[in-house]
Amino acid sequence: MYYPSFMLWLLLALPGLLLGLWAQYKVKSAFGKYSKIKNSRGMTGAQTARAMLDHYGLYDIRIEETKGRLSDHYDPSNKVLRLSPDVGRSPSIAAVGVAAHEAGHALQDAKNYGPLKLRSAIVPAVQFGSWLGPLLFMGGFLLQTFVGRFGFNIALVGLVLFAITAVFTIITLPVEFDASKRAKKELVAMDILGQQEMVGVNKTLNAAALTYVAAAVAAIGQVLYYAFLLFGRRD
Ligand SMILES: [Zn+2]
Repeated sequence: MYYPSFMLWLLLALPGLLLGLWAQYKVKSAFGKYSKIKNSRGMTGAQTARAMLDHYGLYDIRIEETKGRLSDHYDPSNKVLRLSPDVGRSPSIAAVGVAAHEAGHALQDAKNYGPLKLRSAIVPAVQFGSWLGPLLFMGGFLLQTFVGRFGFNIALVGLVLFAITAVFTIITLPVEFDASKRAKKELVAMDILGQQEMVGVNKTLNAAALTYVAAAVAAIGQVLYYAFLLFGRRD
């Protein structure tokens, strides 16, 4: 539409996009490498997560299998830890690292870790804002030509709704970093992995953390782009 808008879009969208591709490459290569190396104790991801949960008396948290690759997650509302077959059944270094990370989320939940609670609380607003926000923004932005101020206000509501999505990706950062920190600490403290094996866990979990940084950078870039479009075009 406008040449300057395209340049602005490139400037704001490109960092998140490139960082995201870089992070995906790092995850693929780290997980690819360390999912082929068996850990010395021969513990599977599911056994590792169970051991960590039991260590903290969290016997009522169930571990289930979920379909897909790297679809592992902890579900705080149902108190269920779901591990993919590649992680739950595998006795690799990478599997143990990912499973321990997910158990780390369960520990956060049990200890009422603030950022996790905050993140869970805004999930409904995020689900709402992620599709309605851009829709209202685009609609309002285009309507400005015909109805002026009214269109501007609709676009502004869209911008604010969409900004909640960016806030979510930012709150996700401490939640993810902390879960990995807990995982690394417990794997050493509970003597599940040796120092040499921890190198693989660190590489796998740090690469995964980078994907969340990329998502936050991309979301902030998009919100800034919307903001520049909206406020930059006013006469
Ligand atoms: Zn996580």
